[in-house]
Amino acid sequence: MEMAAKHPEMAEVPRSVLKGAVRRVLDGRRNKILENGEALTGQDLDPKAIFAAVRAESHAAMTENLTHVINATGVVVHTNLGRSLLSDKAIEHIRAAASGYSNLEFDLATGRRGSRYEIVEDIICEISGAEAAMVVNNNAGAVLLCLDTVAKNREVIVSRGELVEIGGSFRIPDVMSRSGAVLREVGATNRTHPADYQAAINENTGLLLKVHTSNYEIVGFTRSVSLKEMVDLGADAGLPVMEDLGSGTFVDFSKYGLIKEPTVQESVAAGADLVTFSGDKLLGGPQAGVIVGSRAIMDRIKKNPLTRALRIDKLTLAALESTLRAYRDEPAAMEEIPTLYMLTCPMAHIEKKAADLEKALGEIGDPRLRCRVMDSVSRAGGGSLPLQELPTKCVAITVDGIGASRIDQALRGQRPAVIGRIENNEFLFDLRTVRDGEIAGIASKVLSALSSLSFK
Ligand SMILES: *Cc1c(COP(=O)(O)O)cnc(C)c1O
Repeated sequence: MEMAAKHPEMAEVPRSVLKGAVRRVLDGRRNKILENGEALTGQDLDPKAIFAAVRAESHAAMTENLTHVINATGVVVHTNLGRSLLSDKAIEHIRAAASGYSNLEFDLATGRRGSRYEIVEDIICEISGAEAAMVVNNNAGAVLLCLDTVAKNREVIVSRGELVEIGGSFRIPDVMSRSGAVLREVGATNRTHPADYQAAINENTGLLLKVHTSNYEIVGFTRSVSLKEMVDLGADAGLPVMEDLGSGTFVDFSKYGLIKEPTVQESVAAGADLVTFSGDKLLGGPQAGVIVGSRAIMDRIKKNPLTRALRIDKLTLAALESTLRAYRDEPAAMEEIPTLYMLTCPMAHIEKKAADLEKALGEIGDPRLRCRVMDSVSRAGGGSLPLQELPTKCVAITVDGIGASRIDQALRGQRPAVIGRIENNEFLFDLRTVRDGEIAGIASKVLSALSSLSFK
């Protein structure tokens, strides 16, 4: 009671949390004696120090684990930092879907049960040109669901050049064995020919699969079989053809001076029976897996009981619908969808942010801190556009007597944490992925990081 009166912030800590904090602090001291045979210091026994430790423990327990960070890495689709940021419209749509009841699975025309999958099917078909579509939890789930539906206990032919592993241990061969499909590798790492597929086709073949090598490129003496060629092979053999596009995009990035990524529309037009892609990579939406394809196969996929386990939730669906609708007006989408904007951001805007940050850091007035604006390159990330170098501006800082890795650590310890990158012993803030409103925040976190860093 007395404690709460003197420290109003402690009044908000639930009893159970406070009890846990006190127990951990006292246990720490007890263990020091029990395990190490160490005597306690005067500091350990000082009530003020004990109280400060309890307060720190309580504060840590009351702080949310999932917390905002400032992405100054320059990696736009940064999987570890949450991949894509959502557009304002998508965020508004989530709010509406979360705060009120919705027609998630209710057909307003008939008053009967509806399907959540129909909410985005029309718009996906409109943009992609596909006959049918459905969405699940993520692209890994989409691939699993497709393989389980069309190729369970049957062979799936994949080029050895396309046996992709993406981060977080998603490997095409592993997903395949989970689905009960049998991997049939053909070709060599650098070269696969149509004849390789042809020779592997037998009565137990269920599917021809093309995997977009999203996070690497095989260069040099290479030959891969195009989707169109695979569709022709599939037609001859009476087999379906699927493409896992990985990232997947509706935008031809070559129009914006970037390296071309195959678009969903092109894969559909080439005649693939199934195409899968992520919602939160280059599409710039929420985590989701999109499947488009021919109506006959999609009807089978929709009836697979696995769909229930991979079901997309209503908040995701709300964000996905708004994101997809934005693509009806591509110039607007390039502005509104943060991932697309960051990938194609005009240099003048990045320069302005760099100048603003350099100025804000200068105003800290710490003689140890040196900063300069420099040219560098950002990355698309998310296993997309692996060879694309995006020219950018960074603010590089050095602090006299303190190494870049200690700066990095101190900035990660701030709330919000600031995540940058280290190059040549300088700590870099890449302004491409920093939002306008975050510049002042970075400067204030550098200031408090500096005050926590002492010469060593
Ligand atoms: C990223 C990726 C996936 C997995 O997509 P998630 O949406 O992260 O589940 C699958 N295949 C390829 C080729 C990818 O690049």
